[in-house]
Amino acid sequence: MPIRVVAFDGDDTLWHNETHFNFTQAALRDLLRGHAPNADVDARLFETEMANLSLYGYGIKSFTLSMIETALEITDGTIPASDLKVILDWGKRMLREPTELLEGVRETLLGMSQILSDKNVDSYRRVLSRRGIDAGEFVMVGNSLRSDVVPVVELGARAVHIPYHVTWQHEQVDEDSVPGEGWFRLDKITELGPLLGSLDGRPSRSVRHKLQSRPDRKTKRD
Ligand SMILES: [Mg+2]
Repeated sequence: MPIRVVAFDGDDTLWHNETHFNFTQAALRDLLRGHAPNADVDARLFETEMANLSLYGYGIKSFTLSMIETALEITDGTIPASDLKVILDWGKRMLREPTELLEGVRETLLGMSQILSDKNVDSYRRVLSRRGIDAGEFVMVGNSLRSDVVPVVELGARAVHIPYHVTWQHEQVDEDSVPGEGWFRLDKITELGPLLGSLDGRPSRSVRHKLQSRPDRKTKRD
């Protein structure tokens, strides 16, 4: 079945994202080390982010609120207001940072028409149904196995995984949960055109590569 629709993940597929979060999280570790040297800031922050996810959703503002909550909890409420302001300023800085496209995106991408903030089997199914797209005509491109590959392949569509060098912990998946076929892995987006050309009109075949361990965390962060 010919490919009619190619959908793209945004964060860490089209533009840099997780590196900004990683940079700020490292600064939070440094800041809190002075107040609680033995605290596992990364673990506590992740717990807080996950606890807040249904309330705050994804993104920099949510991340900032979770950093403040984590700082308050780790210091038993003793962190000075001046340090809380530092954290707030980090969030503002992140919000002001310009979007930086990944290499090759501009020339590869022609346009996007719809954005999904939470990608799962049901949300993908709704988009395909609303637009009258058969799963066999749909290809999803993204950096997250959890959001961009697993639910898409489960739906009977195909996916292209282009790993980013860091991944948010929330986006990590067990290798056992990743389908053995129906998806492909590329090193960079400029390889997408030739791959789609080779797939178009041909039956899906497995070219799953061995999963490589990478320093991971999550995308938005998506
Ligand atoms: Mg992403």
